[in-house]
Amino acid sequence: MRFPLALTAKIAKHIIRHKVRRTPKFALVLQLEPLHTCNLTCTGCGRIREYSTNLKDMMSLEDCLASAAECEAPMVSICGGEPLIYPMIEELIHGLLGQGRIVYVCTNGMFMRKKMKDYLAGIYTAALEPTLARLLGEKLISEKDAETIRKGKTDDRPVIKPTPWMYWNVHIDGLEYTHDLIVEREGVFKECVEAIKMAKILGYQVATNTTVYKETDVKEIEDMFKFFSWLEVDGHTISPGYDYDAAKKDMVKRLAKRPEDFFLTRQMTREKFAKIQEWGQHFTIFGTPVYQEFLAGKRELTCTAWAIPTRNIRGWKAPCYLMTDGHYAGYQEMLEKVDWNKYGVVNGVARDSRCENCMVHCGYDPSGALGTNFKRGDNWKNFKYNFWPRPKRYERGQEVNAFNGVSVGKGHLAPAKAAIKEAAVSSETACGRGDTSQRDELLARIGKKEA
Ligand code: SF4
Ligand code: SF4
Repeated sequence: MRFPLALTAKIAKHIIRHKVRRTPKFALVLQLEPLHTCNLTCTGCGRIREYSTNLKDMMSLEDCLASAAECEAPMVSICGGEPLIYPMIEELIHGLLGQGRIVYVCTNGMFMRKKMKDYLAGIYTAALEPTLARLLGEKLISEKDAETIRKGKTDDRPVIKPTPWMYWNVHIDGLEYTHDLIVEREGVFKECVEAIKMAKILGYQVATNTTVYKETDVKEIEDMFKFFSWLEVDGHTISPGYDYDAAKKDMVKRLAKRPEDFFLTRQMTREKFAKIQEWGQHFTIFGTPVYQEFLAGKRELTCTAWAIPTRNIRGWKAPCYLMTDGHYAGYQEMLEKVDWNKYGVVNGVARDSRCENCMVHCGYDPSGALGTNFKRGDNWKNFKYNFWPRPKRYERGQEVNAFNGVSVGKGHLAPAKAAIKEAAVSSETACGRGDTSQRDELLARIGKKEA
């Protein structure tokens, strides 16, 4: 089947239990943000711009675990910030798995290999040598790493082990050139691919998490699915980019870009996602077929943001992952105090102007699973999508030109370097002329990269 039976059964049981009890609103997925610190500064990320990214400002392990227990969501998506920076991440994953939850670790991929090397050190015996030999052969670890692994672990902290109940959910917004451009650093795509390869060798479940922006080329998204299907990634989350306030302000201030040049309107989303149902046939796309119909513009859905609540250092964030009108001390308190009828788009009319262009998965994917705007045949569609055989590995994915950026000398800093060179040449030849207005900024960016 497309998704693991035990996981599908757990979620179905949770929904049925609440439907039988007639619970009006309940959580399906908790978006847990233990901290907002990140090692990257991606274009379009509101988190690192809206909240403090100081490492002092983070949730305690106890608070994180209590939040999951409080809202009872069967799935917890640990995000941030970069969750692998959270000092107690191993204990957090361990604790959530101990509560019987399905755990997604949403990561930019930069520290994944480090965490997997810790795991190898934690379980090292001589029987692991063939695996180490394979990892060395594929250049996924170095000789020095292998030596460290052989010494074993020196503390008794837990490690992040492969289990069917956990996914690495790796942020990938395109092939190499595009992804590195969006995350504003070269080499990130390559590191993600190496981490994914290593994870698959070690038996972890891996998903990718993609945001589609206005400039995203649909053909590139298809190529990305083909490439990661060939790498045997277990699933993909894909969602349209949304111009929430913090991201919008950053775009104007820091990058001097107009948000409307970057983010999608509803109409544009429908155009970009016109083929999503077809992608769902060929690739393991997460999300219900009902949500896919919504993205493709074939039906309307009502926002159910309360089903994917966000908990962070300031409390339960309302109304949703994207917009912040307040923080509450408890999940139930948030459910009761927020006037949910103020949000979303109903029959094409935005109840709040900020919701107008929003079709993101954290607002509308649960609507598909919960039967909001139910139509005859929806249950069968959902059942069929989950229980039908999993799409086969796309063997020709290896032919995709995935490394089309810095690996082939086409990094996003290359034009910046060229601009500096040009400016330098022109000032040499024309004494003081030439456009050097952006030179300091470019130099700073290149310096940062080369540091
Ligand atoms: S990796 Fe995630 S949290 Fe970090 S800047 Fe990028 S989008 Fe934001
Ligand atoms: S439609 Fe829902 S998820 Fe989207 S911005 Fe509005 S409240 Fe948030």
